[in-house]
Parts: sequence; C-alpha cells; structure tokens
Amino acid sequence: MASKKPPAKKTAAKKPASKKLKLLETRAGFVAILGAPNAGKSTLLNRLVGQKISIVSPKPQTTRMRILGVLTEDKAQIAFIDTPGIFAPKRRLDRAMVNAAWQSLEGADTILLLVDAKAKSDELTLAIVGQLQEKKQRVVLVLNKVDSIKPNILLPLAAKLNESGIVEDTFMISALTGDGVAYLKNYLLAKTKNGPWHFPEDELSDLPSRLLAAEATREQLYKQLQQELPYGATVTPESWETKPDGSAVIRQSIVVARANHRPIILGKGGARIKSISQAARAEIEKMLGHKVHLFLDVKVDEKWQDRPAFYQMIGLEFEQ
Ligand code: GDP
Ligand code: MG
Repeated sequence: MASKKPPAKKTAAKKPASKKLKLLETRAGFVAILGAPNAGKSTLLNRLVGQKISIVSPKPQTTRMRILGVLTEDKAQIAFIDTPGIFAPKRRLDRAMVNAAWQSLEGADTILLLVDAKAKSDELTLAIVGQLQEKKQRVVLVLNKVDSIKPNILLPLAAKLNESGIVEDTFMISALTGDGVAYLKNYLLAKTKNGPWHFPEDELSDLPSRLLAAEATREQLYKQLQQELPYGATVTPESWETKPDGSAVIRQSIVVARANHRPIILGKGGARIKSISQAARAEIEKMLGHKVHLFLDVKVDEKWQDRPAFYQMIGLEFEQ
C-alpha cells in the first residue's frame, strides 16, 4: 500500500501543475476608458483595437452604451471598455449612460482617464477626478489631442491633474493620428496578468453584429444631421438575412421622438436618408468584411426614451 501511495500522489500533483503551466502562457486584462464627453474615448478604443468598433462624431454624447473592444497580441489579451462620457445628466437616458460609465469601473484592472488637452474648460474632468478620489480609484492619465495644441500646455495640465494623487502614470497621445498610442498600448500589454483569455482570439467585440450595424447608422445621424436632432433619435435593428452569396440584407428603423423630425431625416426627395444609408452601409461592410444591402425606414415614437425594451437592447439599466 505504502509503496503505491507516492506515485499516485505524484500523478495527482502533476496534473494541476501542467494545467497551471497552460494558464501561465496567456495574459489578460480589462481596461476601462473614462472621461468627459468628446475626450476621444471611442477614437482611442478603435485605435487600440485596430478596427472601428465604437462610433465617433464631433458631437458630445455619441456613445450611449458600454462598448467592448478586444485586443489580442501574442500571449496577451486586453478587453477595452469604451464608456459614455461622464457629465451632469438631465434626461433618463443621460442618467443611464453616466451610470453605465461608472459601472465600467467594476471588474476593470486599469482605468484610463482620457482628457481632451484641447478643451477650453476642464471643469468636467475635475468633477470626474473628484469622484474618482472619493472612490479611491487610481487611474492612468492620458492627455489626448496633442496633435492640435501647443505643447507647452501639456506639462502644466499633467501637473495639475497629478496633484489629485490618483494618477499612477501619465501619457500624452493623439488618438486621431496615433501619436504616442503604441507606448500606451505596450504599457497596458505589460500590465496584463497571467490568466486565461476571456474572448476568442478573433473576436473584436462582445456586441452582436446587428447592434454594431445599428450603431453605424446612428453615427451617420450624428455626422449628417444638425444640432439636437440626433439626441432625440435612435436606430433599432429590425431584421438580418444572409444571402447565399454571403451578403446580408439588413433592415433597421430610425426612430424619432417628434413627427416633424421625420421629413428632416428623409430630406428633399429622400436625399438625406439615401446619404445616411450609403455612408452607413460602407461602414457596415468594412466592419463585417462582406457586402451589405441596407434598408432604412423612419418611425415616430414619442416615448422611445421611456421604453424599458430600448434600454435592455443596449444593455443600459432602466430607472423607474
Ligand atoms: P468620445 O465622446 O470621448 O467617445 O469622443 P470621440 O471619440 O467620439 O471623439 C470626439 C471628437 O474628437 C471627434 O470629432 C474625434 O474625431 C475628435 N478626436 C478624437 N481624438 C482626437 C485627437 O487625438 N485629436 C484631434 N484633433 N481630435 C480628436
Ligand atoms: Mg464615444
């Protein structure tokens, strides 16, 4: 009996050891990108992942939900979480967006605090810093848009934000041109910890394609329509059919809260919606890597921002 025991022990000990070795081969981490509206968070996510996942526009509050983008390089995988900007919310939807941004802190190994170095006021950023201090949350400070500022403002801005005591490291980048992003990326890759990947190697996001495609159309609303209109509109996926030739027939609705917004979206002789549809289709084709037929219609629903189903669809919490 005694002579049998040691070998049995040995095998038992060996198995977990080899399993452990396998785990050690891969590295993983979650990085949340936080900041004021328009800081360039979505632009940075797309740049880090190497593909357009999160929609971008010159208008603030383009991003409404948590968007996850996956970077896999050699043995390391980082899941980046792009968030809606943090600001003082007024509407129910705004509140849900800001809550989603704060919730992204949970489960994140690293928080990037992205700051628009070009912004005239840093009031919003300082408010975010104040809340992070309260939460005792340390961050990596990333000053963005260095391509379009005088370099002499960077050091004082970095010094001021470093006074908060929550800054672990500071980077200066242009998410738009890519300047400095490789340093940031390598730093984040080095920060990953031994452990299994959370996503398959070829997966770029956890969002279903039908939602990414609806986002591509929503991006065009922000890019092609004036002022407040995009804030009162949304895009919902209706159907998705794959043809034998590999192309997809995608139907979506643009939902507006006011009947008088419908003709604006359609444009003269349908010119505006045609232009929205063409640009969105090109983006979706790029994202999916195959041909797409996109059909859009415009619906009026005064209450879309009060419907729980809408929040559920994009993963936001619905506040009663
Ligand atoms: P978000 O609201 O933080 O997600 O910001 P977006 O990524 O949507 O970008 C807001 C605007 O800032 C867009 O017009 C971007 O093209 C622009 N932007 C983002 N990064 C940079 C940058 O590094 N330099 C410049 N000049 N503009 C940028
Ligand atoms: Mg965004």
